[in-house]
Amino acid sequence: MADRQAVFQGSAPLSSFTRLEELVADCEGELQVRLEFGVHEEGIRQLTGEAKGIVKVQCQRCLDLMDFALDFQFHIGFAMHDEMATSIPRDLDPIVIRPDEQPNLQDLIEDDLLLAIPEFVSHPPDQCSVTTEFGDPETAEKVESDTSKENPFSVLEQLKDPGKQ
Ligand SMILES: [Zn+2]
Repeated sequence: MADRQAVFQGSAPLSSFTRLEELVADCEGELQVRLEFGVHEEGIRQLTGEAKGIVKVQCQRCLDLMDFALDFQFHIGFAMHDEMATSIPRDLDPIVIRPDEQPNLQDLIEDDLLLAIPEFVSHPPDQCSVTTEFGDPETAEKVESDTSKENPFSVLEQLKDPGKQ
């Protein structure tokens, strides 16, 4: 890998990230990526940049699909061995790679891509079709009294009645 600065800018189809496909409902779009190879002030080879894109994920509250905007940064520092990785500056995420190896950009991007999607994704409260807020006693009470109308015991009552006559 050259020590000179190199900039890579382009887009990659989101569907080319196979691990992402397992996480999201739809990855038809593209990921806009800007990567810059350079040297950290402490002499560490680094890869910095950013990526943006939109994936469809399932809202964990109403289970409808929603757009999730990916927008994340890369701060990768390359170490030649584990020992060196421990001395990578704190503002970089260490990746161990031998001097004769080329970093697999696809993998590096995907690692950060997966981290950019939180485990719990949901619509903002005012846009979600499930409006019940957790911990809102008024709403919770209302839901309870509504469901009591379809109390399964009322069915039992009807079954019992013919036996009495
Ligand atoms: Zn929702």
